Amino acid sequence: MNSIADNIGSVTRRIQKATLAAGREPGCVRLLAVTKTRHPDELRTAAEAGQTAFGENYVQEAIDKMDALRDVPGLEWHFIGPIQSNKTRIIAERFDWVHSVDRLKIAKRLSEQRPASSPPLNLCIQVNIDDEDSKSGCSLADLPALARSISSLPGVTLRGLMAIPDPGQPERQLRQSFRQLADALKRLRDSDDLPGTPDTLSMGMSGDLDIAIAEGATCVRVGTALFGARPPKS
Ligand SMILES: *Cc1c(COP(=O)(O)O)cnc(C)c1O
Repeated sequence: MNSIADNIGSVTRRIQKATLAAGREPGCVRLLAVTKTRHPDELRTAAEAGQTAFGENYVQEAIDKMDALRDVPGLEWHFIGPIQSNKTRIIAERFDWVHSVDRLKIAKRLSEQRPASSPPLNLCIQVNIDDEDSKSGCSLADLPALARSISSLPGVTLRGLMAIPDPGQPERQLRQSFRQLADALKRLRDSDDLPGTPDTLSMGMSGDLDIAIAEGATCVRVGTALFGARPPKS
């Protein structure tokens, strides 16, 4: 089995290769280490190997790890899971980024509950690219209005868009989904009535990060390729 440090090295090289192949600027894609179900010691090992950004899906699990790693300076915590309204306060207080905002009610609560002593919370809107009823995410049709409303909230900064396309799709379909998200960000950036300029495309995971980078990802969210297969959730 490879060590976490080795895996960070090989994923970083994968990112560099895909960035270069796409003719994009070196260093323009960030690696977010997705650590749901992983032990705090594994995060510590990753941090010692230079990893600073960590993504978590479950609030209480994340808070426990933040507390366990309190002595490690410079870590950045990203919330990437579904958000229940009764969890917004702790998310607003403890996280640096939220990738999974898909409705105004949640964004408003995060804005109101962000401590005045903290910088605005970085938000990405999760977009439902595949249009499956079962999945979370704002529709492409509703995105412009939601983006405008979120942009006016004082406690948060709209940084970009996130999507989780169905990974079982054929590559051509997957590429199309990533491209749709990239196009949606371009349209937001081009619109005159949006204050600020969202710059983040959070897309691509262990199996498809190369395709996502070819289509413009600026942040890839990687779990399995860094830490191995996750144990089934008990
Ligand atoms: C688990 C998860 C990932 C990481 O997936 P891997 O296939 O393990 O790389 C990325 N994004 C989200 C939203 C996740 O829940």
